[in-house]
Amino acid sequence: MSAGEFDLIARYFSRPARRVPLGVGDDCALLALESGQQLAVSCDTLVEGRHFLSTVDPQRLGHKALAVNLSDLAACGARPVAFMLALSMPHIDEVFLEGFSRGLYALADEQAVDLVGGDTTAGPLAMTITAFGEVPAGRALLRSGARPGDDLWASGTLGDARLALEAFRGRVRLDGEVFEAVRLAMECPVPRVSLGQALRDVASAAIDVSDGLLGDLAHVLRRSGAPDAPLGASLEAAAVPVSAHLAVQPWHLQLECALGGGDDYVFCVTARPDRSDAVLAASSAAGVPLTRIGRIDAEPGVRIRGRNGELLDHAFTSFDHFRA
Ligand code: ADP
Ligand code: MG
Repeated sequence: MSAGEFDLIARYFSRPARRVPLGVGDDCALLALESGQQLAVSCDTLVEGRHFLSTVDPQRLGHKALAVNLSDLAACGARPVAFMLALSMPHIDEVFLEGFSRGLYALADEQAVDLVGGDTTAGPLAMTITAFGEVPAGRALLRSGARPGDDLWASGTLGDARLALEAFRGRVRLDGEVFEAVRLAMECPVPRVSLGQALRDVASAAIDVSDGLLGDLAHVLRRSGAPDAPLGASLEAAAVPVSAHLAVQPWHLQLECALGGGDDYVFCVTARPDRSDAVLAASSAAGVPLTRIGRIDAEPGVRIRGRNGELLDHAFTSFDHFRA
């Protein structure tokens, strides 16, 4: 490691760890697990040009790099403890590092997690965070627990991040304030950490929506079904919660953003129908709305009903691969 990199780590990424036995500075970090807890581990990479635009505010990028990992831990019902940062950048850019580390630590402080180590190399701008959490043994929320007849729920609102992307692409025009609001949704997703823990023993399956509701729902259906027979679902398109900003857009764009758009980091959750009250209790305990949007079916495929109960042709959202 060169002196430049050492200085960089010392300056931006070496705050003392407060919640783990050993953080940055040695060959390893040391974490301690309470007895009866399992270690939940998740890893996500953000690459410039692929996961973020080069114009993004570094502070928001620091937030997002950690947020997407905390969202994964949350979707498993884990409590986040610590994380590691592998950072590759073309040259030492103090302005970038100052903003990036500020955004990163702001969320780390808010969620009481320690940065405990990492790696720093020269290369294209990209960052990989590995996050560690703890969850009581056997109580993690998994993608594989959904059963036919379960209700399907979504947290918060869907589609704003995609709406922002379409505005960046010049496909839709948004007023300044609206653009800033949906841009915030795209660049600063909120990891639903307390909601995930509140849904332990309540939800039958859970996933955080990073790639789009239909795509991520398909993961749940596949993992919850038999190896050669995925489950299916019925979705009420009009029930899918969207923000006031998206609700005024043309219906087809609403569907495209809310069902197909990624980067929202809301939860898609299933629960037995007799657990509805417990789902709503978890929702109010965490202060995050949960909306019932459909049902899990034994029959494979996703059937989407439109505003008048008509069966929607998936072709317009190009999700034909969900047809059984
Ligand atoms: P090694 O050569 O033993 O792999 P390094 O010399 O690369 O370790 O890193 C020195 C220390 O700094 C280690 O504790 C490592 O975890 C930490 N570190 C390196 N890069 C980062 C980073 N971007 N963020 C946080 N800690 C880092
Ligand atoms: Mg070493």
